[in-house]
Amino acid sequence: MVLVGSRADAHVQEVARRLHAEDVDALVVDTLAFPEETRLSLTEDLAGIVVDGREVGRPAAVYVRGLHAHPLAAKVEAHDAMDADWRTTLTAFREKSALLLGVLGRWERLGVPLYNPPSADWGMHKPAQLAALQAAGLPVPRTLWTNDAEAVRRFARSGRVAYKPIAGGAATQELCEDDLTEERLAALAAAPVTFQELLPGEDLRVYVLDGAVIASLRVVSASLDFRQHEARIEPVTLPPDIASACVKACEVLGLRWTGLDLKRDGDGVPRFLELNGSAMFLGFDARGGSDVAGQLARALARHARD
Ligand code: ADP
Ligand code: MG
Ligand code: MG
Repeated sequence: MVLVGSRADAHVQEVARRLHAEDVDALVVDTLAFPEETRLSLTEDLAGIVVDGREVGRPAAVYVRGLHAHPLAAKVEAHDAMDADWRTTLTAFREKSALLLGVLGRWERLGVPLYNPPSADWGMHKPAQLAALQAAGLPVPRTLWTNDAEAVRRFARSGRVAYKPIAGGAATQELCEDDLTEERLAALAAAPVTFQELLPGEDLRVYVLDGAVIASLRVVSASLDFRQHEARIEPVTLPPDIASACVKACEVLGLRWTGLDLKRDGDGVPRFLELNGSAMFLGFDARGGSDVAGQLARALARHARD
């Protein structure tokens, strides 16, 4: 069993602890400590993979928490290195990323169950992801990803609009009149933005694992982006059609497991905001009483016993 991520990451630690309790041996490929400490060697053989002196070859299953292979990635401290020499630093990160993705790509080719497989990555960018869900008949909010100011003005005529980053780095906000001025919209020349029908209803977080819903929670909060403020998290029972829509969404995107964000529209219909390829779950487990950690660890452990 292999866990890919930082040894200091709480999710990696919890999954490792649970696997240990299941009597399954888990090796952490510490991607945050790579290449400074973690030693990785690959030969031309698909299974020729040695991590910190241990032959890993073809593991029974892999939990992919994170590669930490970009200066902007969580926990990465590249500020000084970027200031000193951004080009060399970015090049080094690209080399690191290429090797780590190469390892994951080998495991996928070898048929190793990956939670989640790297082949799903290209379809996970939100403009591709939401359109794929909509094409599969699943409900998504009306959305515009653009850097075209005129297109934003037209989109804003249709009702309340939320805007947010395409990849991340800022919170969701409601678009207001002042955002539609020439000066403000000129910012679109620096980066494109997501504009989306504002969904006024309740936030849902649903976990799907190996084709089944394993937890569903609702987030009760006063603010638009629930991460900005304290919120109450409670378990909910999903109507069967919504549960199966979540399972289908996970399948459409080629994921083995995911944490989905849905939000209800004005008519109370939950619409898909996103599926996360490496969803956090410890906070939801602690506050909402779910056991995503346990179910994920048991799913991994089953592969080790097969
Ligand atoms: P992220 O990847 O940053 O989590 P999300 O699309 O899940 O991106 O948005 C974060 C949160 O912002 C959502 O969980 C929701 O609370 C709020 N939000 C996002 N989009 C909308 C929207 N269209 N209408 C209302 N709230 C939204
Ligand atoms: Mg989200
Ligand atoms: Mg997300």
